[in-house]
Formats: sequence, structure tokens, C-alpha cells
Amino acid sequence: MPKIVVVGAGIGGISMAYELRSVVGRTADVTVVSDSEWFHFVPSNPWVALGWRKPEDIKVHLPGVLEGLGIGFDASGARRLHPAENAIELNDGRRISYDYLVIATGPALAFDEVPGLGPDAHSLSVCHVDHAEAAADRWDKFCADPGPIVVGAVQGASCFGPAYEFALMLSTDLRRRKIRNRMPITFVTAEPYIGHLGLGGVGDTKGLLESVLRDHDIKWVTSARIDRVEADAVECTEVVADGKPGPQHRFPAKLAMLIPAFRGVSCLMGDDGKGLPGLANPRGFVVVDKHQRNPAYGNVFAVGVCIAIPPYEPTPVPVGVPKTGYMIESMVAAVAQNIAALIAGRTPSSEPTWNAVCLADFGNDGVAFVALPQIPPRNVNWSSRGYWVHAAKVGFEKYFLHKVRSGAGEPAYERLMMKVLGIDRLRPEQSETQPPERAA
Ligand SMILES: Cc1cc2nc3c(=O)[nH]c(=O)nc-3n(C[C@H](O)[C@H](O)[C@H](O)COP(=O)(O)OP(=O)(O)OC[C@H]3O[C@@H](n4cnc5c(N)ncnc54)[C@H](O)[C@@H]3O)c2cc1C
Repeated sequence: MPKIVVVGAGIGGISMAYELRSVVGRTADVTVVSDSEWFHFVPSNPWVALGWRKPEDIKVHLPGVLEGLGIGFDASGARRLHPAENAIELNDGRRISYDYLVIATGPALAFDEVPGLGPDAHSLSVCHVDHAEAAADRWDKFCADPGPIVVGAVQGASCFGPAYEFALMLSTDLRRRKIRNRMPITFVTAEPYIGHLGLGGVGDTKGLLESVLRDHDIKWVTSARIDRVEADAVECTEVVADGKPGPQHRFPAKLAMLIPAFRGVSCLMGDDGKGLPGLANPRGFVVVDKHQRNPAYGNVFAVGVCIAIPPYEPTPVPVGVPKTGYMIESMVAAVAQNIAALIAGRTPSSEPTWNAVCLADFGNDGVAFVALPQIPPRNVNWSSRGYWVHAAKVGFEKYFLHKVRSGAGEPAYERLMMKVLGIDRLRPEQSETQPPERAA
């Protein structure tokens, strides 16, 4: 039997393993290699950071679940990939081999690129459930003795939704505690304008998000480069259109949360600190073609945040393109079809749509957007605000965690609902003639 190894057990890796089990059935051996025995639902981290969820609410212990589905599991973690040898070196010194590899290792968090940034220094993080749990401890103490707050995303960041979510959720939380009037909140972002999101905006996200920030009395600075984070302040420089430094700011901050830039995880890096040649770009993101397949190693595919996507457009401060949940599911669908094709001796031909359906929750309402495809120009470019977004996000969290616990790839009712909405995971056949260029 061909052996397929999926490295990473987050939204991309677990969805990939389940989809493979459903598409290739028992004709291939599927194994997941992760660096932890736990799946955690990353989009719920901001709720954990405010104490609205306990970490255990959003975690699934994988060994038993995967065994029940006939999927192998190893939590030793990958130390280094050796794609020329079809092998993975594990953290405990063992090596395992594969016929097909899917990389789904998500991001490494580049806190070291800004002095004072990150949970080991002066700012909170919601990027990992453990960081969010630590933030929840700080939040309760902060509310007892509050002060100025700074929230945002630093230069090179690609994940802006959680920054807006966290700023607005904590404002909602403070209003519920009736202490919102006791501190200023400032939103500081590398985006060239509010609602850009690394995508040139979606529908009217600029207008909608500016309006929500105004409703919450949150001031903002855009095109901001964070110079340093200190125990009681965030310093940043606005960068003007020609790339020159503009006004500088020092915002007092008793509490700061700034989304870092991402890079590839260490098993994708060579000894020179750059991505493994052929496999990854210098920043360690895996290079893939329109079939999610690495051009240098034809039996290697990648899904999720770990893939290389070039920036959508030049901006005064660099920003990356986000890799969102439904977009990742479309990558997963294409990879499962393409590996099945290779096993059957056919040429891979499935292309993901990279459609995006996103829900940003603000605690009492939220903003939803649908971008088909995520990167412009688009066939559908829609955003909307309402309480229903909060309710839908809670429902989606429950649904996704149920999916992970029960082992369903894309259940029939999800497929039907997305079909009715006209949202597909795979591109139709005729698109083969006009593929977008996606390799970075
Ligand atoms: C705070 C936050 C909120 C978000 N909210 C949303 C949202 O609401 N909607 C949306 O569409 N998108 C959202 N996203 C974007 C995206 O959906 C998530 O980042 C998602 O978790 C990405 O999935 P992934 O599988 O690529 O990476 P991850 O979920 O990070 O998973 C990576 C996996 O690889 C494992 N791993 C890492 N290194 C190794 C190694 N060396 N060996 C083995 N395993 C390894 C990790 O342990 C983990 O299991 C959010 C992102 C963040 C950070």
C-alpha cells in the first residue's frame, strides 16, 4: 500500500487526513505526524484569551480519535524534512519514509522580529491556545486595575481578522463590565487602510470595520511599523506612500496584543536559517503550483498557512495574504484528489478555488465576508455586519469540533449547503486552460 504522511495536525492537517481517508479509502496507509497529541481550534483562541472559553473546550485529544479511523499517528514532531530521500527526521531521532507527503505545519510566529513583542516579552498573543490561556490570566488582573490598551498587527503580518476580533471583543467585554470608559484603546496596523486585510479589502470591509471601530471609540493608525513594545508602551512609525518614515507615536499600553509576522516552521528550514532549497522559499513557506504540489518534489504537497503566496499588492508597510479556513479546505480537497490520481497512475488535475468564507466575531455582533475567490479580481465580493455573525461563528466552532471528533471530511449536508450558496472547493474543469500563477 502507498504510504501517505501528513505533517501537522491543525485545521489543515486534520482536514487533510480525514479527506484522504474518505477519498483513497483503505487503498493507502495514512499517518499524521504532529508535535502534540492535541488538535485545537485556532479561531476560538481570542475567546479563550478573554475567558469566554476554557482551553479544554476547544481541544481534541487525537490519538484515540485517529486510531478509531484507521489513521496512524505520531506526536514526536518533525525535526527536518528530507524530500530528496522521501524521508522525515523526527525530533526523537527516528526517520520515517513516505510515498506521498502533505505538509500542513502552519506558521512559526516571528516575535523575534520586533523588540519586546510576544508572550515571552511585553505583548499578549492569541495565535496559540497556550498563549491565549496565559492571556486570560492577565485579562482578569488587568480588569481589576485597567489602563490603556493597544491591539493590532505588525509589519509583515498576514492574519488581520483576529486583531480586529480581539480589539472589538475586549471592548465588548469592558462595556459589559462597565469599565470601558476608563481607558483608551488604539488599533495599530501595518495595513494601508482599515479593512484591507492583506487582500485589498472584501466588499466594504473598509467602511464596515471603520464604522465598528468608531462605534467602539477605538482610534486607529494604519501603515504602521512597530518599532518596539515596552512594558508600558508601544512605539511605532507611520510609513508614508513613498516608503519614507512619517509621524512617530508612543502609545501608553498597560495591555498590548499584536499579531506577529509568520514564517515557516523549523523543519522546513536549512542550517542557513532559510527555507530548504526547492521545497520552500527563503522565509520557509512551501512553494506549490496550482495543484498544491511542490514543483521540485512531485510527491510533496502542502496546505494551509505553511504555503507561499506572494503579497496581493505593494503597500507602504509589507503585509501578507491571509490563508483562511475555507480556503484551506479547498486546498485539502484538491490535494486528496491529486494524490488519488497519482496512486491511480493519472496526472494530478484538481485545482482549489481558494474561495473564502470568513466570520469575524466582536462579541455582540460581527462582520462576515465571502470572497470568491479570496484573491481579487473576484466573482463574488460581499461583506455584511450583524448579530447573526456572532451566532454563526459559535455554531461553526461547535460544528468543526464535532467534525474533528467524529472524523468526517466534508459531510454531505455541508457539501449541499455550500453548493446551494454556489461556493465550491474545486475549480471547474474549464479553468484548466486559464490557471492563475500561484507559485511564489
Ligand atoms: C488567532 C487566529 C484566529 C483565526 N481565526 C480564523 C477564522 O475565524 N476564520 C478563518 O477562516 N481563519 C482564521 N484563522 C486563519 C487560519 O484558519 C488558522 O490559522 C488555521 O489554524 C490554519 O491552519 P493550519 O493547519 O495551516 O495551521 P495550524 O492550525 O497552525 O496547524 C499547524 C499544525 O502543525 C503542527 N506542527 C508545527 N510544527 C510541526 C513539526 N515540526 N512537526 C509536526 N507538526 C508540527 C502544529 O502543532 C499544528 O498542529 C485564524 C488564525 C489565527 C492565528
